[in-house]
Amino acid sequence: MKQAATAPAPVTCDWHIHSCHSCDCKTGAYPSTMADLVAEIEACGVLDYGITDHIHTPFNLPDLEASRKAFDALPPNPRRHFAVEVSSVSQWEIDEVANGTRQNPVYGIRSGGPVAAELALALTADDITRLGIEYVIGGTHWPMYVPFEREAIIRDYHRQNIFLLTHPLTNIIAHPWWWMGHWQNPETKMYTAEPWFDDFNVIPTSMHDEFIAAARQYGKIVEVNNNAMLTSNSYPEKFKQQYCEFLAAVKGAGVPLSFGSDHHSQHQIYTESACRGGSKSFISSAARLAAVGITDADFWRLPPRKV
Ligand SMILES: [Zn+2]
Ligand SMILES: [Zn+2]
Repeated sequence: MKQAATAPAPVTCDWHIHSCHSCDCKTGAYPSTMADLVAEIEACGVLDYGITDHIHTPFNLPDLEASRKAFDALPPNPRRHFAVEVSSVSQWEIDEVANGTRQNPVYGIRSGGPVAAELALALTADDITRLGIEYVIGGTHWPMYVPFEREAIIRDYHRQNIFLLTHPLTNIIAHPWWWMGHWQNPETKMYTAEPWFDDFNVIPTSMHDEFIAAARQYGKIVEVNNNAMLTSNSYPEKFKQQYCEFLAAVKGAGVPLSFGSDHHSQHQIYTESACRGGSKSFISSAARLAAVGITDADFWRLPPRKV
């Protein structure tokens, strides 16, 4: 009789979760309240977690304020935390948004800026104190006005990742080398070649070395992202395997890893496949990670809050 493979221990923490207050979750999709969301998370066996809505430019600050208010109204759980995901953006777009002449700049200003623009974060130390933000995830989300050309994009994403690693306000670097948009096959929704999906080795080893060295020097945590990376239906299998080897190298260099679902309400991972099975589940990621020597016990955790 065929022996069932031993299932890896499930992941029991999630440090990257968007609520209905995030700019990219205001679709009216279930769960429609933060209270519904946290009930589902906890029902999934996730013990330690954080709510991390987006801020790209100060235009999104009211979303974070609403998120904080909803968080404060939840039934107490010391292992639930309030945090944020901030994008690497340009000082140019922050200044443009501050001028007030742009129509509804929810995602900042994604074209027309200067190539090699000075990078910036919208979040300030005052915002962190005022909103009781316990940790800051920094993410590279868009090319910074460089041409859609493999080498230019790689250099640009590396520059942004290093900016986030060396920034004094960040704690966790979100989904390194995530990509969305250009080069996606409109029929299959897959990325098959540029910028790094045919072979992750197109990114020079020297960049990975510099990334790891900066994480070590600045005491940063590197994220293992479930939805956007490990279980993305748009990324090829070979890429995912290479990516897990990169994560194992990060771990091997002594850099802490955090786990994040990157749940957005429209993905509904906590209501559909959630933690317990299915292609988007934490179990499928746990198996993939176990193959490169990463387990739930490796993941960074915040201690419980005093409530
Ligand atoms: Zn992100
Ligand atoms: Zn996110």
